[in-house]
Amino acid sequence: MSRLNPILAASVQSTDAYQQAIKQTSEAVVTWLQQPEMYQGKSVAELRERIQLDFTSQGLGNQAAIERAVEFFLKDSLSVHHPQCVAHLHCPSLVVSQAAEVLINATNQSMDSWDQSPSATIIEMKLIEWLRTQVGYQAGDAGVFTSGGTQSNLMGLMLARDAFFAAQGHSVQQDGLPGDLSKIKVLCSENAHFSVQKNMALMGLGYRSVTLVKTDRFARMDINDLAEKVAQAQANGEQILAIVATAGTTDAGAIDPLPAIAALAAQHNIWVHVDAAWGGALLLSEKYRDYLDGIELVDSITLDFHKQFFQTISCGAFLLKDARHYELMRYQAAYLNSEFDEAQGVPNLVSKSLQTTRRFDALKLWMGLEALGQQQYAEIIDHGVTLAQEVAQYVSEQPSLELVMQPQLASVLFRYRPASLATADDAAIALINQKIGDALLDSGRANVGVTESDGVTCLKMTLLNPTVTLQDIKVLLALVEKTAEQL
Ligand SMILES: *Cc1c(COP(=O)(O)O)cnc(C)c1O
Repeated sequence: MSRLNPILAASVQSTDAYQQAIKQTSEAVVTWLQQPEMYQGKSVAELRERIQLDFTSQGLGNQAAIERAVEFFLKDSLSVHHPQCVAHLHCPSLVVSQAAEVLINATNQSMDSWDQSPSATIIEMKLIEWLRTQVGYQAGDAGVFTSGGTQSNLMGLMLARDAFFAAQGHSVQQDGLPGDLSKIKVLCSENAHFSVQKNMALMGLGYRSVTLVKTDRFARMDINDLAEKVAQAQANGEQILAIVATAGTTDAGAIDPLPAIAALAAQHNIWVHVDAAWGGALLLSEKYRDYLDGIELVDSITLDFHKQFFQTISCGAFLLKDARHYELMRYQAAYLNSEFDEAQGVPNLVSKSLQTTRRFDALKLWMGLEALGQQQYAEIIDHGVTLAQEVAQYVSEQPSLELVMQPQLASVLFRYRPASLATADDAAIALINQKIGDALLDSGRANVGVTESDGVTCLKMTLLNPTVTLQDIKVLLALVEKTAEQL
């Protein structure tokens, strides 16, 4: 029985099949982009029923497999480019990022060794060098692309931990964790990302190793409480591995006071990691770059490009101020980074990453920077921050809506609270706001976040999309009110 060779390679048969498959899928994407609904509104049960793997002995062929993906995946996907898709830090992506994905996927380079990704390794290293200059670090190439903020935060916490014990003459890499583990602490604010806890658990130190520092009314770390918690920890004989500051908390977009945190940490010789998964976008901002002042002082940084840099998932980076700390996670694998090759100056990125096989996600940022240039990149980033301020103003003028916090980045926290609910208790208001969020998604017309701010259940709009206007959001808010009235 003759079959088409399914592998992408040089034969005419293969390149024809490749072009056909790409054409078929890109045409389907164009059709999907024009669907007016944000979501088709199917329930969990409906999708479970509808979506079935069709794995047959003979195979369906590319064309049929693509048709099925269009029918069962694409049509019921969430339209992240839709103006009323504002629930999460989940961005629509750049056109050039799609082109980059074609190259990334077709070449299938792997970033773990130079002989699997020669030009890609150089591009990634040059981009890390460039990112370092953007944050204000010294020239160098200590840093690596990651799958996202969670992994970058893990790298920061792990290296902080290992540097802490290395200073006491102990190698965690060789000998594991020493001493009384219950004495080991990391400090971050109440609004830091949950990956701090998850990563500490992963590192064998548990959620309880995380001490939460209080926040001010703008959800930023309270520097006085930080000073107190550090003093308390020291009085208790605890060992502080790191302070994790956040530049752009996931809900409020709050940026912790970086210079003050760095100064306090320096007095006590404590590692500071900045989780700038969201706020790092301001590195390219024209209007708001100063929000990140002080980021150059810290020991390690998380950046995410699949948030307000508009890259496709996944695309993140970890930056390490002092390259010597990379020695703490060095591993010499004969087949990837032999001493022989390293002695000849052959670069390898496996020693800078927790991953081994790794995608060439750096290309997306590289091409995005080249295609858009500084001005346009700044514009699309600043758009969301400015829009959030306008939307907040509008919300505060609506009698049925209440602004919960003044925006700092591109999110607006608010809740539905008409005069008729003036005397209702908090639980009742919370419930109605929760129901609004669910009803909007069920209707397929909008995806608005539901979250909590300081114990108050509220709605959240994350206004990343640079094509969204104040008018679009007015339409969305009218829909919120209408939905609430129908509940
Ligand atoms: C999104 C986010 C993360 C997690 O990043 P992933 O890329 O989703 O792993 C961590 N910290 C902050 C502040 C975030 O906004």
